Amino acid sequence: MAKRIVTVALTGAVTPHGYDVPETPEQIADCAYECWKAGASVAHLHMRDDEGAGVMDPVRFYQTIKILRTKYPDCDIIVNCTSSGDNRVSDDSPYGNNIRRLHHKIVPGIEMGTFDAGSFNWGIPGGIFSNSPTFLTDAGMLYQERNIKPEFEVFDLSMIRAVGVYWKKGIVKAPLHFQFCLGVVGGMDATPRSVQMMVEEVEHLQAEGNLPKEVTWSGFGIGKGHLPVMYACLANGGHIRVGMEDNVVYGKDKDGNKILANNLMLVQRAVRAIEAYGDEPATGAEAREMFNLAPLDMDATVKALEGITIEEIEQAKEDCKKEFGSTYKNEKGMG
Ligand SMILES: [Zn+2]
Repeated sequence: MAKRIVTVALTGAVTPHGYDVPETPEQIADCAYECWKAGASVAHLHMRDDEGAGVMDPVRFYQTIKILRTKYPDCDIIVNCTSSGDNRVSDDSPYGNNIRRLHHKIVPGIEMGTFDAGSFNWGIPGGIFSNSPTFLTDAGMLYQERNIKPEFEVFDLSMIRAVGVYWKKGIVKAPLHFQFCLGVVGGMDATPRSVQMMVEEVEHLQAEGNLPKEVTWSGFGIGKGHLPVMYACLANGGHIRVGMEDNVVYGKDKDGNKILANNLMLVQRAVRAIEAYGDEPATGAEAREMFNLAPLDMDATVKALEGITIEEIEQAKEDCKKEFGSTYKNEKGMG
């Protein structure tokens, strides 16, 4: 019986108001716990500012992880933090590139971090989702230094090949974990065919020696592609991501009216699908083993979180602005 890892993407950067999306650190921590009890083993975290816009604020990442780890000591969900949760700083500026990584650099308790393996047009209208070689190289080296496992978010086939090149250069280390992100305009569409193509590309690159043998992968489709992609991931032996970052509609009732989703409903359905397939959701400990992550040392994590203050993190934000000159624009560039 295979173990399938369920990642829950709780919040995202752009899911609008009006849906059941956790936004404050306390809401996000509480929701992560609820989803863990239902079978999720990875929480993919984004932060929101007071107006609800996605923001790369290390204070909020810190507050969320601290609440999660101190309020819920029985919960071993893996903490996975985005590196691209504010489209106003995905601009390849020195400030943008540094503020996108600051939480990974200074906040304790982050076990995984996203590594978006290329740049592309995000949506119409929209902006350029910029992940330059400089940004990615620095992210890869920082993740190694901090023992953070990269999650390679890939939006098309070429990005899978690019990850192999970063691996060959030693910027990232095996085992590698991919997240197939499907359905964004500018990337591949959210269909079983795209899942199949990505799996075949991974296997092709492995056969050529351009990816290591030790690869795990997961996938998700946004919007109405979420179900076809989830089942295609199961059928192809992969792991699953669900959550309000990707999809806000659960389905339709018998009259054709939309049923709105929340994170718990999406995790519960993913777990039911895994069990119906004859498999089991992986626990946090099992997922860490599959990812080759260290077991969770709760005492050490809480101690490290208590060893840093919000004032110190605020200071690091100020230093980042001073050093790199904020390019922050209040108007949104994307989404
Ligand atoms: Zn995300």
